[in-house]
Amino acid sequence: MEDRFGHRISYLRVSITDRCNERCTYCMPQELQEWLPRHDILTFEETLRLIRIATDLGVTKIRLTGGEPLTRRDVIQLFRQLPSLTRLRDIGLSTNATLLTREVEPGLTMAQAVRRCGFRSVNISLDTLDRAEYAKITGRDLLPAALAGIDAAIAAGFPQVKINCVLMRGRNASGLTKLVDFAAERNLLLRFIELMPVSTTDVLTEENFLPVAEARRTIEAKFGSLIPQPEFKTNGPAIYYQLPGRSQRIGFIGAMTNLHFCESCNKLRLTCDGKLRPCLGSYLEFDIMKPLRANASDDELRQFFLDVVERKPEQHDFRTTYKPDRKMVAIGG
Ligand code: SAM
Ligand code: SF4
Repeated sequence: MEDRFGHRISYLRVSITDRCNERCTYCMPQELQEWLPRHDILTFEETLRLIRIATDLGVTKIRLTGGEPLTRRDVIQLFRQLPSLTRLRDIGLSTNATLLTREVEPGLTMAQAVRRCGFRSVNISLDTLDRAEYAKITGRDLLPAALAGIDAAIAAGFPQVKINCVLMRGRNASGLTKLVDFAAERNLLLRFIELMPVSTTDVLTEENFLPVAEARRTIEAKFGSLIPQPEFKTNGPAIYYQLPGRSQRIGFIGAMTNLHFCESCNKLRLTCDGKLRPCLGSYLEFDIMKPLRANASDDELRQFFLDVVERKPEQHDFRTTYKPDRKMVAIGG
């Protein structure tokens, strides 16, 4: 699938729930949350069918996300069916890690069970190593659970465990170098992400926003000049650097300040309530649940995907017309 601007679509982010056991300020509204009714969420069967249709059209990589995907009941039953989609080359999970130690069956942690389903990578959100700050950012005192989850992911032997840290001035800015050391000690790939205006509350204020360039300067002040690694890519928009004197690499995802951010975009998003979104930072979304539940044929659904790709914008609207609307937790980060 290729859009009008030459973006080749090979990657589908699949949100399987709008629910979460945390309440990150930048992701979820803080007021009492009304979850989507069960009937409005794609069933496992429907989700698998849409992923299969996407693989017919050239999608080779998916990432399961949410909300917190591991809060979905019996989620491992869905994961166990993914390897049957033979065209998939890479399956990943985005998680806050707090449920990775949970036993799925006696003697089998969630992390091990996910690994056995053929998942190659786990992306874990961790904005700070300070317990009080973690509780403020996520609304839950779950840092110990998240750290145990990271250990469980490492022990389960995923080829790649990444740590994603959303940058926020006045919140985690002073702890960035500690995260760099934390990642180095465990051989994890750390990425710093600029705050995006996706939540319903307007978190993207001058006081909150911390550009990647500034985070980089903070890190260079402690570790020395970072060495650009233009050849190193991970299927996304991160720009990587090596730390001087270490084999460690770190990445920066400058969604707001990098004007070339969208040039190599290869993604589509499927929300848990069955909407296809051609771009995270655009209001455009198309209801594929409707034809799906009206017995559309595979051909019709494939055409639906192609029509959505045709509407993919050249770049996101975050710097221009975008105002917080749908919360990230429903879109799937
Ligand atoms: N619950 C899982 C987790 O926390 O990783 C998966 C879903 S979460 C929406 C996926 C990623 O989106 C996380 O790394 C999170 O930090 C990021 N995210 C959420 N809201 C964001 C925002 N407003 N700006 C930048 N990143 C955001
Ligand atoms: Fe939950 Fe992840 Fe959103 Fe935090 S970023 S509220 S952990 S879905």
